[in-house]
Amino acid sequence: MLSVRGLTKRYGERTALKSLTLTLRPGEFTALLGPNGAGKSTLFQVLTGLFAADEGEVEVAGHSLRHDAPAALRNIGVVFQQISLDLDLSVRRNLLFHADLHGLPRALANERIATDGARFGLGAELDRKVRELSGGNRRKVELVRAGLHRPAVLLMDEATVGLDPKSRHDLLAALREDVRTRGVCVLWATHWVEEAAPADRVLVLHQGELLADGTPAAVTAALGEPTLEQGFIARTSGSADAAAPRERR
Ligand code: ADP
Repeated sequence: MLSVRGLTKRYGERTALKSLTLTLRPGEFTALLGPNGAGKSTLFQVLTGLFAADEGEVEVAGHSLRHDAPAALRNIGVVFQQISLDLDLSVRRNLLFHADLHGLPRALANERIATDGARFGLGAELDRKVRELSGGNRRKVELVRAGLHRPAVLLMDEATVGLDPKSRHDLLAALREDVRTRGVCVLWATHWVEEAAPADRVLVLHQGELLADGTPAAVTAALGEPTLEQGFIARTSGSADAAAPRERR
């Protein structure tokens, strides 16, 4: 569904991704676990076409990002760390705007907004301004938006930042249900081990390279400590990047 081969991205002297190679399969919830500065956001920026990689290839649902970017990007849905909804428009208007960008016929867009909104418990919120919604519900709107054009791959960059524990739990549960019923694949970037532990698969990213890849149990064994958290801390400690530009929890 998503294939990344030999991806390298440099910012001047600094190499943020070092010949990264990974493949994601449909119906799989994969956590991309890495400390601040590991390269998670850089990877997402390359996968969403915001930055070009210096080297390497990306294919999304069989479409090359280099040779057919529109087809590749049509198969990607994304929730970025920073909220990116228009607060003064209604939920429905925000979603219709996205549907228009993707060229969805209006009737189909309305149908999906109704069904997906209901699935995420937003049925009663559709005609309210986003500004009036709780943080958890705003995130759910972004999740609905990310899936409206039915992408094969959903990218979630620290998507629970700023949410309380119940909203985080609800959001993750809603997303897992989506993976199960629709067979999309999710790449969930986080620096929180507790968000990675229930994933089908965990990729540990450290200084732009994969340290481990497998089920949570296999990754725990590969990191060589009794728990995933202990292994993650032992293998990535001292790497927190003081120069990382964005605010984290
Ligand atoms: P993460 O999302 O895992 O915290 P990032 O992808 O933000 O990691 O950062 C990876 C590395 O690239 C870090 O060393 C970071 O400081 C650096 N970096 C990220 N964005 C830029 C930028 N726009 N210019 C220069 N260096 C950057």
